[in-house]
Amino acid sequence: MRILIAEDDALSRTLLERTLQRSGYDVVAVADGAEALLELSSQDPPRLALLDWVMPEKDGLEVCREVRRRKDQTYTYLILLSSRESKQDIVYGLESGADDYLTKPFDVDELKARLRTGERILELEDRLVEARESMRFQATHDLLTSLWNRGVIMELVTREVARTRREGSCTAVMMCDIDHFKRINDQFGHAAGDEVLREVARRLQLSVRSYDMVGRYGGEEFLVALNRCDPGSAVSRAENLRGVIGGRPFQAGNQRLNVSISIGLALSTDFAGYSVDEILHEADMALYAAKAAGRNCVRVAAPGSRKPVENKTTESPVMMQ
Ligand code: GH3
Ligand code: MG
Ligand code: MG
Ligand code: MG
Repeated sequence: MRILIAEDDALSRTLLERTLQRSGYDVVAVADGAEALLELSSQDPPRLALLDWVMPEKDGLEVCREVRRRKDQTYTYLILLSSRESKQDIVYGLESGADDYLTKPFDVDELKARLRTGERILELEDRLVEARESMRFQATHDLLTSLWNRGVIMELVTREVARTRREGSCTAVMMCDIDHFKRINDQFGHAAGDEVLREVARRLQLSVRSYDMVGRYGGEEFLVALNRCDPGSAVSRAENLRGVIGGRPFQAGNQRLNVSISIGLALSTDFAGYSVDEILHEADMALYAAKAAGRNCVRVAAPGSRKPVENKTTESPVMMQ
């Protein structure tokens, strides 16, 4: 574990440095508070710090206060070192944001024990952060495919459509639905079906740009939003997505199978006065049209009418081996 020592007295600093190195710490030693803050604000700062109270530039208390003011970094466990030993000083020191306080001259075993306490607290902190991240992930992602879940993808699309409208660009919204997915479950089992869902998700995600969005909208239905999409290339990009699914067989367990998707595409620029729900409805209607046309194809929602227009696609029947 890396540890920062900030101590202006060269002899004490060297002594501390040697003691901690012997205990297995990776030590960074500095001689004043300004340098200490620099180290603690670096890209990968030490998580433990021993700060002398009285130092040039900035004293230990100021360093504690500044570290605690920042909310963006991971927690740093701060121990103040001082020869002041009145209760008042200790309270004052702890109130600056220090986690612990040691009076000089310190006892080596006590110092080591307090550092171990610090490490335990940092471990707890890490576990908390991990649990929070995992909860955040679970609340925003679909657990099977790790794509955005329905609530989040809807919110992202809503925000994106509003933004592209403000700047006069276009969001292409695609409802993608796996063809005859029920048959895959029926023939190969639910686990194989799950594997197919994961692989469809993976291929879709890999086929869009980093600022496009892919979410699991329902069981075997995916919502893809291409941001700032040139309306003229939306169909070919939808065709590309269709191709990455239908163009290469899937492996589910020891089965190789062909999977295809149908896509209903709606462009935000074609539906200027529409809400996002209405645009999604239009994409859904286009998807129905794609299913009705034989599946494994793309249909574009037509503005001004409830009936989606046809677009030229190559269609091939779904086959399983
Ligand atoms: P279509 O081409 O018309 O879309 O036919 P389809 O069989 O894909 O559509 P249908 O709506 O009849 O069936 C969808 C199936 O998807 C039914 C449901 O059991 C299955 N499904 C939904 N969620 C999951 C899942 O998480 N895992 C698996 N394995 N199957 C799922
Ligand atoms: Mg000093
Ligand atoms: Mg389906
Ligand atoms: Mg469906």
